[in-house]
Amino acid sequence: MGVPALTERYRDGVSVETGPVHPSATPRDPSAGQRAALPEDVVRRAPKVLLHDHLDGGLRPATIIELAAETGYDALPTTDVDELGRWFVEAADSGSLVRYLETFAHTVGVMQTHAALVRVAAECAQDLAADGVVYAEVRFAPELHVTRGLSLDEVVQAVLEGFRLGEAAATAAGQQIRVRALLTAMRTAARSREIAELVVDYRDQGVVGFDIAGAEAGFPPSRHLDAFEYLRGESCHITIHAGEAFGLPSIHEAVAFCGCERLGHGVRIVDDIAVGADGEASLGRLATYVRDLRIPLELCPSSNVQTGAAASIAEHPIGLLARLRFRVTVNTDNRLMSGTSMTREMLLLSEAFGWGLDEMAWLTVNALKSSFINFDERLALIDGVVKPGYAALAAEQT
Ligand SMILES: [Zn+2]
Repeated sequence: MGVPALTERYRDGVSVETGPVHPSATPRDPSAGQRAALPEDVVRRAPKVLLHDHLDGGLRPATIIELAAETGYDALPTTDVDELGRWFVEAADSGSLVRYLETFAHTVGVMQTHAALVRVAAECAQDLAADGVVYAEVRFAPELHVTRGLSLDEVVQAVLEGFRLGEAAATAAGQQIRVRALLTAMRTAARSREIAELVVDYRDQGVVGFDIAGAEAGFPPSRHLDAFEYLRGESCHITIHAGEAFGLPSIHEAVAFCGCERLGHGVRIVDDIAVGADGEASLGRLATYVRDLRIPLELCPSSNVQTGAAASIAEHPIGLLARLRFRVTVNTDNRLMSGTSMTREMLLLSEAFGWGLDEMAWLTVNALKSSFINFDERLALIDGVVKPGYAALAAEQT
């Protein structure tokens, strides 16, 4: 695998400093320029796995406009498809939290009927399949889709129906994708126990786990202990948005008290890592624990740059965390707001760090190992789809 090579590259050229590593101080891979970035068509065809993608952050601009017309939603900033696509990225890029949150008001605003949810979910599955994603866990918050009278159950059923339709359409188009759902509870609200019960109710119909999301500061995960304890009692999987903006206390609570198996983002774990003058990293207790337990980090490079958690892709802590062999995965977060895809995220990393097919395969196997489907299903995808897929691409390159 390629990661030991990464270690060597970093060791050679790490910019030395003592004290905590801030993302902006994370060294750019010095040898990136020596290895050509992967061609886009190769990255697109490579099998990819996605664990952190928001359904309400991935709509097609044209679909938003059509759904707004169908459902009488009249608050869109524009009804021109190209302009609307640009508007979402610019609003998310603006550095203004108000503008960033406004973007979700529009997507959620048009996702309030059965037909709209089915369509958005089906298109999500098709778009991911066309991008070469073979397995995805897509999350959504049922409580955000009930303003026009749908029940929480009806929301979940509509999205699951859409995923199945999208998978079938992808198969008909010659692509293979499996999409599973994660149900998100809003950390600022008080419905997490109800959402946790939905996870249990729909666990055999395509829901594979639970998540909490929303403003991190002031809303620690331990506010929702009741939901987490219930889910652990039911042997259900848990991921938690933690360590995106707020840092180590949030990660500590998620890991120590909430039983989270993966960290949504988790990028602030770098606050517990110091790189010495010799380039050697020293990990604090929490970073050590997260790495020892192989707790997966659902890293979302472009999203982190937009929200200011990292200054640029080249300075994103994913380089350091990969070198230190954390269980790193690459994700899109919100494809519409970041104007991105799994192919684009991998390309950006390839350009910034000189990563090739070996590193992509490592990241993809990491993601499958960390997925919430059953162990035998994970192995079947790793051995039957991912490894042969990368082997075939590698053979093409030689
Ligand atoms: Zn997220």
